[in-house]
Amino acid sequence: MNNKNQHRYVIIGAGMAGILAAIKLREAGKHNVRIYEKADRIGGTWRDNSYPGLTCDVPSHSYTYSFEPNPEWSRHLPPGAEVQAYFESVVAKYQLEEIISFNEEITDCKFINGQWQITTSCGNSDYADFVIAATGVLHHPRIPNIKGMSSFKGKLFHSARWDHSVELDNQRIAVIGTGSTGVQIVTALSDRTAHLCHYQRTPQWIMPVVNAEFSEAEKAVFRNDPAALKRIQNDPELEANIERFSVAITEPDSIAMHEIENIVAQNLEQSVTDPDLRERLRPQYRAACKRLIYSEEFYHAAQSPNVEIIVEGVDSIEESGIRSADGTLREFDIIVLATGFEADRFMRPMTITGENETTLEQAWAKRPSAYMSVSIPQFPNLFMLNGPNGPVGNFSLIEIAEQQWNYISQLMAPIENGEYKKVSAKQSALDEFDKARVAAAKKSIFGSGCQSWYLDSQGIPATWPWTRAQFKEAMQTPKFSSYDFS
Ligand code: NAP
Repeated sequence: MNNKNQHRYVIIGAGMAGILAAIKLREAGKHNVRIYEKADRIGGTWRDNSYPGLTCDVPSHSYTYSFEPNPEWSRHLPPGAEVQAYFESVVAKYQLEEIISFNEEITDCKFINGQWQITTSCGNSDYADFVIAATGVLHHPRIPNIKGMSSFKGKLFHSARWDHSVELDNQRIAVIGTGSTGVQIVTALSDRTAHLCHYQRTPQWIMPVVNAEFSEAEKAVFRNDPAALKRIQNDPELEANIERFSVAITEPDSIAMHEIENIVAQNLEQSVTDPDLRERLRPQYRAACKRLIYSEEFYHAAQSPNVEIIVEGVDSIEESGIRSADGTLREFDIIVLATGFEADRFMRPMTITGENETTLEQAWAKRPSAYMSVSIPQFPNLFMLNGPNGPVGNFSLIEIAEQQWNYISQLMAPIENGEYKKVSAKQSALDEFDKARVAAAKKSIFGSGCQSWYLDSQGIPATWPWTRAQFKEAMQTPKFSSYDFS
């Protein structure tokens, strides 16, 4: 079949999952593929985030495509720039640049007469037999609505829009937000700034993970011995720990969860000497309710003489700095908003219209949901990677996306071979899935009483509430009866 007659695949986003989809499609001999990327480079979250201290909190050899092991990882937890460089090297190796349209955002997708009609921000039109939405989750910065923010005379930016033209050394810097990002920034800047204030609305539990370097000798072994490289990628001890963690998340009363609680509580007790500071840093919710933060150094940074942890809320921003709720004004040269992302956006703001003129906004009026995290009823031949209701936690989303691809490719096959024209999840299947999912999610640690980006607008964890092993099992083969093929 020539290119013209092949099914056409459009992938939205050239981040980790979009790159994966393109490689897998071409590997299967499907060459009518185009990736639309809204930015000027690949990399998704690893392109957007370049703040000082950016580190992946998933072990490097796990945060790697199964088919592209990387002997060069420098550390157990890789620096963000290295992750970005890894994805760039993969794109170069597979010559994907030629199928990526950069600076071209899809604005509109409409399912008409069995095909997706696509419009882009450049005013171009395209079509697709299959749309793969690989937009990622954390790509719309959440900019807080703080009184007076625009009046600030210094530099103010979101952590995912870092302004590298701004000098940091010996400046007075405020970091608002104590998620993984805020903690990493404060840790990295603590010995560079004149004065660093960390505005903490909610403290975090900190898991003291040592981020060891791989020695040159270890890297040489990985380079020369593919079996050794595979072994570290599939390290059974790490696998067991991740599985244990995933059980802990789903069963808050498990021994595994109590172990985590003990470790983080001891870390706080043993690392922070000043009792007053210790209490300010003590969370009032359970460990791992918010995404657990891995850091060996944060408490050390928090106790640096030039670092202040401010627990009085941010009242307003003025020309010269931040006024806290207790009336204190602190002056700054730089304010960093490490305030997270609008995690419920996924493909939006693009408009997507499925069958019967159903829009994504209508389908997701209650909450973003997708059957098994990949398919939305009435949106045929559109599949999501790392979409809503998938597993999240301190484990590799690359592995999750690969499993999802295995599942999705089986759903596409009957259409590719001409047996059917279209497929999407049945509404009844999604309803049943969502009912069970919500019930289990409420019981997971994410639902144990804290605010986090894992929760939907109704305060229910939007995640896969069962274990990682159960997800892997579920992704082996689709339950075809849950889908409408026609
Ligand atoms: P986040 O976890 O959503 O944290 C946002 C922080 O900003 C929270 O501390 C929040 O406080 C605070 N905040 C928001 N609005 C505020 C306001 N108006 N005033 C004061 N504080 C405010 O965001 P993130 O730190 O960017 O991390 C998001 C996710 O990105 C992580 O969970 C992780 O999945 C990923 N990430 C991963 C890595 C990695 O190592 N792989 C590194 C960075 C990020 P409350 O807690 O009180 O709401």
